[in-house]
Amino acid sequence: MICNEIRKDYLLNRWVVIAIERSRRPNDFIKEKIKANSQKICPLCVGNEALTPPAVLLYFNEKDKLKKEADTKEFRRKNWIIRVVPNLFPAFNYQNTCFCKEKNRIDDFIYAKGHHEVLVESPNHNENFATIKDEQMINVIDAYIDRLIDLGSIDYIKYVAIFRNYGKEAGASLTHAHSQIIAMPIIPRILMEEMEFSKNYYQKNKECIFCKIIEKERIGPRFIFENDGFVVFAPYASINPLEFWIVPKKHDNTILNLSLLEKKLFIESIKTSFSALKFLVNDPPYNFGFHLSVDKKTREYYHWHLEVYPKLSIWAGFEKSTGIYINTMPPEKAAFELKSQIKNIEK
Ligand SMILES: [Zn+2]
Ligand SMILES: [Zn+2]
Ligand SMILES: [Zn+2]
Repeated sequence: MICNEIRKDYLLNRWVVIAIERSRRPNDFIKEKIKANSQKICPLCVGNEALTPPAVLLYFNEKDKLKKEADTKEFRRKNWIIRVVPNLFPAFNYQNTCFCKEKNRIDDFIYAKGHHEVLVESPNHNENFATIKDEQMINVIDAYIDRLIDLGSIDYIKYVAIFRNYGKEAGASLTHAHSQIIAMPIIPRILMEEMEFSKNYYQKNKECIFCKIIEKERIGPRFIFENDGFVVFAPYASINPLEFWIVPKKHDNTILNLSLLEKKLFIESIKTSFSALKFLVNDPPYNFGFHLSVDKKTREYYHWHLEVYPKLSIWAGFEKSTGIYINTMPPEKAAFELKSQIKNIEK
């Protein structure tokens, strides 16, 4: 008899039922696309700069040279190739000036002091990580790095979340290619748990848990792709069908020190895995998030990575009330399917 397994995440105290018995084929996850309303004016398209606040950072080419600047209140540049603007409806708002915390209350809070930005990845409305040109993708990564340097150096900022929602079902309210950046005064729970686990593991074993994970996964049944710089695999306790992680082979806690070659290898692993996902299940909605650290003290033991969560299932009563997930696509099968797709694309 085939038996389902309850698996624990490598680091987190989080469990998932891998429903081998009820497991499904990639085709079962293909959904009909919700048609985007093309009539609506896109506030992120070239020419509509006045519909967003002034850019805090933009890249543009002048005489074949890449230049960087910010908009002023009076002047909004139109020939940008990357544009970062404050979110019109920020979850974290830097204008909150009071930063107080009262002790011993059950309704504890601090003010959501921080920054919430939208990073427009291209002037091309339909830019896609499966097909984006390498030069433009380098600009996207450089812009992540520039904002991470700026926001990560602010004294009250404890974490900078860089993430992407793709497709309406994954929470993207705008269809124009964009990522989001939220700099906040706390370290989110998942990151905190990963960092604490990594730290303890390092103290006990004198090695990084992520370095060990990639050493194992790159030769195991969940392996998807690798090049000289990165390993892509489906994590052992994936909570999402077709979830994959992109992890650098070089140990570092942040993306700030990537060389040009490493950026190119990162881009190759992104484009390869996102193309495979796109062709396997008809360009599905997804979310991704960088896991990294803005704290230099974590450098020894924390290892940055990118986690990609295709949005192919719905979390309902069981997941919401228990924090345990059910995944009907075993990661071994997900890896096999994505790997086969990469082989098909290469042909
Ligand atoms: Zn647009
Ligand atoms: Zn490591
Ligand atoms: Zn992580």
